[in-house]
Formats: sequence, structure tokens, C-alpha cells
Amino acid sequence: MADVAFQKCINPSCGAEFDCGQAIFKCPSCGDLLDAQYDWDKVPVPAKLGDFGARWATRPNRLDFSGVWRFRELLNFCSDEHKVSIGEGQTILQQNCAIAEHLGMQSDRLHLQYEGLNPSGSFKDNGMTAAFSHAMLVGARSCACASTGNTSASVALYAHSCGLKCTVFIGSGRIAFGKLSQAMDYGAQTIQIQGDFDDCMKQVQAVCTQLGLYLLNSLNPFRLEGQKTIMYRIIEGLGWEVPDWIVVPGGNLGNSSAFGKAFLELKALGLIDRVPRLAIINATGADTLTDLVNNKKLAWNGGNVDQQIIDDYYADLTARNFSPHTCASAIEISRPVNLKKCLRALDVCDGVVRAVTDEEICDAKALIGAHGLGCEPASAATIAGLKHLLAEGTIGKDQRVACVLTGHVLKDPNVTVNYHKDRQGEFSNPPVEAPNDLSAIIKLIR
Ligand SMILES: *Cc1c(COP(=O)(O)O)cnc(C)c1O
Ligand SMILES: [Zn+2]
Repeated sequence: MADVAFQKCINPSCGAEFDCGQAIFKCPSCGDLLDAQYDWDKVPVPAKLGDFGARWATRPNRLDFSGVWRFRELLNFCSDEHKVSIGEGQTILQQNCAIAEHLGMQSDRLHLQYEGLNPSGSFKDNGMTAAFSHAMLVGARSCACASTGNTSASVALYAHSCGLKCTVFIGSGRIAFGKLSQAMDYGAQTIQIQGDFDDCMKQVQAVCTQLGLYLLNSLNPFRLEGQKTIMYRIIEGLGWEVPDWIVVPGGNLGNSSAFGKAFLELKALGLIDRVPRLAIINATGADTLTDLVNNKKLAWNGGNVDQQIIDDYYADLTARNFSPHTCASAIEISRPVNLKKCLRALDVCDGVVRAVTDEEICDAKALIGAHGLGCEPASAATIAGLKHLLAEGTIGKDQRVACVLTGHVLKDPNVTVNYHKDRQGEFSNPPVEAPNDLSAIIKLIR
């Protein structure tokens, strides 16, 4: 595959290219992000997206079984023998009439892409299957990541399924218990750094460089290749039609970046006729993207991003000793690594960015839970954000919307239990105390 895939710097005034046999993760010439790119003329891309659906019939083939590798021609950077898979991406798009009606939408318009069904319980597995395949390609023996939680869970699972040593870095006291339990259970060395995610991110990059470990943060362009398939599956779930809107939470902005790249490529390949709009939802306590895009007017600008705006913004965060805070720990990030790629996605998809409060997130999470799908707080930012976008008329009640529910409800039991037990919101459903007495219990049943 080395002849059809390559890595390319996203900065148009640099544009340096590198082969895929290297694990570099940042342009050595200018320091900008790298993309995986393809010489599409040499890739055997099916004539229409529906052709990928035929692979459901050959599911005993492990690659056809994977919801990522089923679309392998669209992430054609390694040969089949390097491809790692533990059955990721068996996720489906579910129509949810009850939530649609609650939000005042036409009832058949709202769809939820539930990525909590992945092997480690979050969408991160879509990216890890691709990144670990690249790690196999380059012959990596050990790997590391910094994480708000789900990345470490997914890395630990994949590392040990393909025999790599693994170290995960997490901020002290910031990780949801379900996620921490996974990293330990899957056998990763877990290092808790006294600091937040941004501190971990800085340290892990230095450690990987010094010790030659394979880095698995979303700086890794191959992860984003795997995450593109979430969009393919949404289109598949709509009978190979494109929705009007994709709504996704924004943390390190890997997902939103991957989604924009997916649509850019599908459009260029003639596999879709139009690109959906993208809504990225921050938490108000970690709203760097919202602030930069909506207030500071930061934009992709053909790749000539105004770096000064970003530098000034981050210098101000540092000067104020700012640390992001939200109950949605998966998006508690103030210096998103994929910011520039995300700006490109916003450009490709005519995107919008909004921020929602923790209260709105928790209410939305309970609303989702009460209507058939549990998710973790960050995932619920999508429904909270959708509510804003409907109210302001940006999204129409009759538009077809797909929200990406990024992680499983059991990832963060504390937020859920506290919301219900402490009656924090309109959907709180606390346990009822009862004496150990039948007639008293019967009186309580509603
Ligand atoms: C990682 C994560 C996010 C944030 O995604 P980015 O790609 O970093 O923007 C959101 N939700 C969950 C559950 C996550 O694990
Ligand atoms: Zn460069």
C-alpha cells in the first residue's frame, strides 16, 4: 500500500509529504498536523457506497465483520495482514421518535449513532483499530497515550490484543471511574500526572520522542482515518443517503476533523452528491473552539489559519492559569490538538459551533437514558446542543439530524448517580427508600 498512501502536512505553504512507513505525527519541517492521503486513482474504490453493504453477507471474514474495515478501500494505508481488529464498529444508527418529539422535531428526523457499543465502550475504537494497524505496519513494540479516559481504555485494549506494551497518562483526579477501571483491567501501565489533560498531552509527546514509543493520541493521523467510518455507517443507516446535519461533541476535535475529511473525500470521489452540515458542541467550561470560531472569527481560510489568534488565546489561558472544567470529562480540553483540521471540517461542512452548560448536558443525558440509550455526559452534549440549534432556527424541525453518542453510560457512573440521587435536574429519578415490609412496598409502586 505504500505506493497509494502517504502522509501530507496540512499547511498549504509547506505541504511536505512522507511515506506511511514512518511514525512521525507532526510535520518535521513546519510542526503542523499531518493527514493520511491517497493516490485515489490507484485505489480500487467501489463504484457506489452501497457496494460496501454487500460485505454484510461475508461477515465470517474478520475484515468484513469490522465496521471500520468493511470500508477499507477508503482508508487504504496498510495491507490486510497488518490490519488489527477486535470487532469494532458494530454500531448502528437508531431513529429516536420520542426524543425528537420532546425536542419539537418531526418525529422521524432524529437519529442517534450509538458508538457506546464498541468493544471498549466508546467511539475511540474506530480510530484505534486503524492506528494499531499502522503501529503493526511500522513494527512498533510499545505505545503510549495521554487521555481523559476513553483513549486510555481503548489503547489498553488494542495494545494487549496485538501484543504491544502500553503506558497511559491521565490527569490526577480527572478521570471517570469506568474508564480508569478499563485501563487497569486491560493491563496498561497507568501513570497519573499531577495536572490536567493538556499537561499530560505535553508530557506524553516528549516521552514518546525520547523513548521511541508509538503515540496514540488523535495527533496520530491514522486514528482519524478509522473515525471516518462513523460517517459511512450513518450514511449506511440512512439507506446510503446523507443527513442534513451531523451533531458531535468537541474535545480534542479528532472526530469532527475526521468527519470533515470523510465528507470531503466522499464528495471528491463522487460517492455522495452533497455534504451535510456539521454542528460541534463544546461544554461551556471548555469552550476554546466556540470562543475562537464565534468570537475571534478564527477560520480555515484555505489553510492559511491565523496562528496569531491561536497563540494569543493560549497565552491568555496560560496567563490566567486557566484549567477547563466540565462534568463531561471526555471534552474537558482547552487546547484541542486537532484545532486546525477541525477548522477545515467546519469549512467543508459549513459547520457551526456551540457551547452548552453542564446542567444542560446532564438533563440531555437523562433524557437520552429515559428513551432507550444510555450515554456518557460528553455524548449528551449533542442533544443539548441540538436543542439550542433548533431554538435559534439554525436546524429546522424537519431536517434530518444524526447525533453521535460517543460513549457508553457505564463509563461515568458517578455523574449519573449524583444527577439522580441528588435531584439535580428535571429528569432526576432517585431511588425510593422503603421499609422491609410488603404492604408498604406495594403502596410505593407507581
Ligand atoms: C474522546 C471523546 C470525545 C471527544 O472527541 P474528540 O474527537 O476529542 O473531539 C467525546 N466523547 C467521548 C465519549 C470521548 O471519549
Ligand atoms: Zn509542514
